Amino acid sequence: MAEAVGPSSPAAIAANRRRVTSAPENIDFETTEGVKAIVSFEEMGIKEELLRGIYQYGFEKPSAIQQRAVMPIIQGRDVIAQAQSGTGKTSMIALTVCQRVETSIREVQALILSPTRELAAQTEKVILAIGDFINIQAHSCIGGKSVGEDIRKLEHGVHVVSGTPGRVCDMIKRRTLRTRDIKMLVLDESDEMLSRGFKDQIYDVYRYLPPELQVVLISATLPHEILEMTSKFMTDPVRILVKRDELTLEGIKQFFVAVEREEWKFDTLCDLYDTLTITQAVIFCNTKRKVDWLTEKMRNNNFTVSAMHGDMPQKERDAIMAEFRAGTTRVLITTDVWARGLDVQQVSLVINYDLPNNRELYIHRIGRSGRFGRKGVAINFVKSDDIKILRDIEQYYSTQIDEMPMNVADLI
Ligand code: ADP
Ligand code: MG
Repeated sequence: MAEAVGPSSPAAIAANRRRVTSAPENIDFETTEGVKAIVSFEEMGIKEELLRGIYQYGFEKPSAIQQRAVMPIIQGRDVIAQAQSGTGKTSMIALTVCQRVETSIREVQALILSPTRELAAQTEKVILAIGDFINIQAHSCIGGKSVGEDIRKLEHGVHVVSGTPGRVCDMIKRRTLRTRDIKMLVLDESDEMLSRGFKDQIYDVYRYLPPELQVVLISATLPHEILEMTSKFMTDPVRILVKRDELTLEGIKQFFVAVEREEWKFDTLCDLYDTLTITQAVIFCNTKRKVDWLTEKMRNNNFTVSAMHGDMPQKERDAIMAEFRAGTTRVLITTDVWARGLDVQQVSLVINYDLPNNRELYIHRIGRSGRFGRKGVAINFVKSDDIKILRDIEQYYSTQIDEMPMNVADLI
């Protein structure tokens, strides 16, 4: 006899039971129905001078996420926007903040929080560029920089603050950053911002903000437990989500090299050096110590590399970023401080010297290459006991990670 599949079949009953219990792990978050794609910036009703800035910056047409999320954001809705890495999410923050801000009022009206100083600064730069013709005043409030300069800028009056939570909170508590006119809070890399390391700091900022606040969450990865907590501080949000089997980009080819043992990674990297320098490359290690160690060892072997991590003085971090952005350095060895958000279009190769510690970081790390539809290659160094971790990532995202071919340089 055929198995019963009607409404009273065991499977249907089980499914129904899942639906009626409200245990959060059973809620299936999906893209909000009725979200429309608007295929040109003009049709979005964007201010004329801002449109000029957008075109001058080189954007001709909105990306898929911009087509869907810009309208609800500029209409003032709470929005949760997820899209693959490098598809224009952070740029969309810049654009929508510029549209929402009333430049005749010289008060902070939009606050953007990011997990790293470099990302907060990058976002400020994009706002200043796109918003040039509307005379937007933006300031990045980030640790490691002069407090005096923050105070001077904020007292002079800015429309937008892009910062890291610690310094922003500090400025709020000093009453230098006045929150009364803030109508929009954006968390870029929001799953990271709402994770253990940052959550308390975000709440610390949030409780100073006006009650009718618009909240916008942005990330390429939004694990279920993060979506679950959004009901606590968002009102009827518009959700634009990506299923995890659609999260990796076709344009980024993923490979592994079986190195068997830790000691063999170094020689493998040296063999790849010519490939690294074809354009620009980022090499990820899991600790700052390892970054220092690998950098020194590469240099001792006469390879030119630069390095960056969170224990370096901010001045040095800034200098290394500037050189890498300018393309005067081509190979950067770094930690996960570089995993999220940073946009250097020339990066076409990412090496995971160590595999990342979680599935989300994998997506963000490999997404440093292949920006906005460009080609990219990611190479994972796997020890024997790492293979199962790599297979887990491959399965989780329904993607393919093949053994690195001899001609990998041809793919860059
Ligand atoms: P994400 O935050 O999704 O990773 P970004 O906003 O950093 O993506 O954008 C990735 C790259 O694509 C940047 O170099 C940005 O200037 C570019 N970009 C973003 N939106 C557009 C667009 N509509 N047209 C052309 N380039 C764009
Ligand atoms: Mg981004």
